[in-house]
Amino acid sequence: MTTHFDINLHGGFWHVEGALNENARLGELFGAEPPVRLNLARVKTTNSLGIKIFVRFMEGMGKTELEFHECSYVMLELFNSFPAALGQPTQPKRVKSFYLPFACAAGGHQFAVLYTTAQIEKDGEAAVGPRPCQKCKKEATLEGRLDDYMTFLSHDP
Ligand SMILES: [Zn+2]
Repeated sequence: MTTHFDINLHGGFWHVEGALNENARLGELFGAEPPVRLNLARVKTTNSLGIKIFVRFMEGMGKTELEFHECSYVMLELFNSFPAALGQPTQPKRVKSFYLPFACAAGGHQFAVLYTTAQIEKDGEAAVGPRPCQKCKKEATLEGRLDDYMTFLSHDP
């Protein structure tokens, strides 16, 4: 299990990587030039201390222009279960894009597909219809219900 935590700025994005835990040094982002864009694709795990640190970080950021990009599944789950992790509601919304899990019935292969919040808000269920499996090319479908992945929308009005 990964326990390391890293943040690196490149290409205008703060890439957060590893485990969101007691080692999460998010304080480095205070004073960063807004908009603060976080790429969360490589956050693999969270624990309760890491979540507390993240919520405190978002409180500290206040109304700073801040965006979440390419949220991994664990980060999407965090935003869905802990509204405070989104900080103060802002317009436009902070969660810009995220990965949703797909699986094929034929081979049991699982893979993640990147979606933008704008695309889901525009097309709804039609955006997450069946697609070819990345491994066997047979039909793969979204695991679970779209609505369950999108509860963060009501926290971030
Ligand atoms: Zn497959």
